[in-house]
Amino acid sequence: MEELHQRICLVHYHEIGLKGRNRSDFEKRLLKNVEALVVDYPVVTIHRISGRLCVFLREGCDLETAMEVAATIRGVPGVARVSCGFKCERDLEVMGKVAVNALSECDDFDTFKVHARRNHTDFETDSMQMNQIVGAVLCKAFPEKGVKMKSPDVTVTVEVVQSAAYIYARSDRGVGGLPVGVSGKVMCLLSSGIGSPVSLWRMARRGAIPIGVHFSGRPQTADTSEYLVDDIAKVLEKTGCIARVYVVPFGDYQKEIALTAPPSLRVIMYRRLMFKVAEELAKRERAGALVTGESLGQVASQTLDNIRATDEAVDMPVFRPLIGTDKLEIIEEAQRLGSFDISSQDAPDCCTLFMPRNPETHAKMPEVLAAESALPVDEWVAELADAAEPHDYACPSYRPPKARRS
Ligand code: ATP
Ligand code: MG
Repeated sequence: MEELHQRICLVHYHEIGLKGRNRSDFEKRLLKNVEALVVDYPVVTIHRISGRLCVFLREGCDLETAMEVAATIRGVPGVARVSCGFKCERDLEVMGKVAVNALSECDDFDTFKVHARRNHTDFETDSMQMNQIVGAVLCKAFPEKGVKMKSPDVTVTVEVVQSAAYIYARSDRGVGGLPVGVSGKVMCLLSSGIGSPVSLWRMARRGAIPIGVHFSGRPQTADTSEYLVDDIAKVLEKTGCIARVYVVPFGDYQKEIALTAPPSLRVIMYRRLMFKVAEELAKRERAGALVTGESLGQVASQTLDNIRATDEAVDMPVFRPLIGTDKLEIIEEAQRLGSFDISSQDAPDCCTLFMPRNPETHAKMPEVLAAESALPVDEWVAELADAAEPHDYACPSYRPPKARRS
């Protein structure tokens, strides 16, 4: 059987709305993103074939490895579905044998059907005839299984293209969305909490290149949160969803605010300063927006008044992908993403340090601005942005900004 086929993963994406130049940019970006993530697997090459990507696996690659490759690719933004199967020659007898092979690799099914199609009429057998011919071979090879046209357990797909046939029985959904790199850069405020990694990932899934900025309580607290953020970034890196994280040692500045500002306004003032520093870093990176993991009403700082008071600190648009989500939904999404267990560990991040007993829930702008005017905020923003330590992660579409002259 070995000489008859080559193992492949077919990567499907939604073509809706993809036209002209957009479409070719999308496909090239997706190909590069997928390529970078499978370097450690036995992959020979990846081709674009009629509206999908075909990942060719090395000879002798087993099902288990192929499924691992498929699982990795399914998590890549832009991928709607990944099918695991074989490429073979356009010969009905060979195609029948390969279909048997493909179906024999499925476990736990009672019913199946064949779904054949050709995208060129230069193959003389039409799809109806292919269904019958391949179907007959499968019925003979799997006499104990039933054929079912409506919602069978397994569908054996046979696709005939110009120079080859692709046959697969295993196919699973991907995360969908757009390839990272087609929508520009965003600067994401990344705590080691549950929400912000999810909000960052959601922006990656819409094609943005996420850059994180983490405010650490260092030197006033331990650097535990920095390690957790690094672990979270490594999870996001597995699917190419993060390019860089700036770690900002924020402890001394928080202490200054805590010493001078009215206790009830402290949290808002920390947050305004964080936003301003994030905006400065975003400008240096040429990122177009800030992103946070806030959800309306979840904690004291996330009331409408307080959200407005922090937005007022910056000119850039601030996106909050989780604003209308419920805590449980966020937890479930973090679990799917693989960041939840890391985020559940305790770390004294800068927001737990110097927490006032009664934080303001309805900040009034004049009071906030008055308190802030007593502090050298512009100077601090420049100092903190200069002190930010970049940590890089693999993201093929990311280009770092040119080094600044000091
Ligand atoms: P999360 O689960 O993302 O930590 P949260 O529900 O704990 O959110 P807050 O702690 O008020 O809420 O934080 C709201 C948002 O502010 C976070 O989602 C994140 O975007 C940003 N943020 C909070 N703390 C930090 C930090 N130390 N560094 C960077 N961003 C932060
Ligand atoms: Mg938090």
